[in-house]
Amino acid sequence: MPVFDVNKVRSDFPILGTHVHGKPLIYADNAASTQKPQQVMDSISDLYSNHYANIHRGVHYLSQKSTALYEGARETVKNFIHAKKIEEIIFVRGTTEGINLIASSYLEPLLKAGDEILLSEMEHHSNIIPWQLTAERTGAILTIIPLLENGELNLSVLPTLLSSRVRLVAVTQMSNSLGTLNDISRIIELAHQQSIPVLIDGAQSIAHMAIDVQKLDCDFFVFSGHKIYGPTGIGALYAKEKHLLNMRPYQGGGDMILSVSFEKTEYNDIPYKFEAGTPNIEGAIGMATALDYVSDLTIEAIAEYEQELLAYATKIFTAIEGLHIIGTAPHKGSIISFVLDGIHPHDVGTVMDMEGVAVRTGHHCTQPVMEHYHIPATTRVSLSFYNTFEEIDDIAKAITKVKELMG
Ligand code: PMP
Repeated sequence: MPVFDVNKVRSDFPILGTHVHGKPLIYADNAASTQKPQQVMDSISDLYSNHYANIHRGVHYLSQKSTALYEGARETVKNFIHAKKIEEIIFVRGTTEGINLIASSYLEPLLKAGDEILLSEMEHHSNIIPWQLTAERTGAILTIIPLLENGELNLSVLPTLLSSRVRLVAVTQMSNSLGTLNDISRIIELAHQQSIPVLIDGAQSIAHMAIDVQKLDCDFFVFSGHKIYGPTGIGALYAKEKHLLNMRPYQGGGDMILSVSFEKTEYNDIPYKFEAGTPNIEGAIGMATALDYVSDLTIEAIAEYEQELLAYATKIFTAIEGLHIIGTAPHKGSIISFVLDGIHPHDVGTVMDMEGVAVRTGHHCTQPVMEHYHIPATTRVSLSFYNTFEEIDDIAKAITKVKELMG
């Protein structure tokens, strides 16, 4: 029993009416990026039509209007993830930039040779390479929480890995290639027992579950707007105020200063200290509209429906001979990665596209995960609240077609 009217919801997303190769589009590439509701497009159009000017520095009417909308968007993000203060929300380009910011402004000044940064084996390249770059510059090393065969993290070794040399733990809340939902509360609790701060990569989880950064007690949380029905090129970084107050700027430029002379610059207060230059004003406002859209449906209703989709798709796909699901953790978000005996995922994706089905094939920017399973790539079906049970039946038919043509 759907917890909301899926057909009504679908009508908010004009692109879902597209036909591909003469077939109705089935969009199942939501982990890469989500589609946008009309409300998000309207809010950006309304900004440009009625309120737009550069923010913060203007005394004139439009500048003040734009500033109010931009700062209102910050408030929306704060409320969505239940941060304590708006000062703890930094607008960034996305998850990738948020992680790079923490690596450069928070962690790097603290690191010395031999220090450790603890990641997991399932991290997206965005949550590996920024730490690797920082480690190369400082002589620190990366240590890794290993994967179990079903795609869960082996948390039994975590107490041993949390040595006195670890300066930060950075883990994803939800794997983009396996779907696994990690027990981040436990990871944060164990890390904090050793006074080690924790960064949570929320790129995937943000659209699928309620986030409360105060309850989680994470030190840093990052996500991208485009994964939660908002625009590209915008995301948010949450950091506890106590960390932000001690961090060096990430980039220099306008708006992040109180005063400048050639001898010395005095930096602006947080969060502006970390937002150099004219920001992505329309992105922030569009993202806030997307968060409001999700809040109106309620994230709880979304999660419930998506779990039903996941259970149904898992059952249907498991029944297909020669199909093997990669990532069978008991707690998963609505992602199903699979391989088909004897058929390369790229061929799977190409034939499915001919049937109107958009899925992603490849390593999903998680090459260590592929290496773990000794596979080059998977085909990934990633579902959203606008997908339907009928679409899952059609995806299964498309997979059967792949087998007929390529098997
Ligand atoms: N982490 C995870 C788990 C992701 O799925 C992604 C996007 N695929 C990222 C980080 C990077 O996000 P972005 O490209 O929006 O910065």
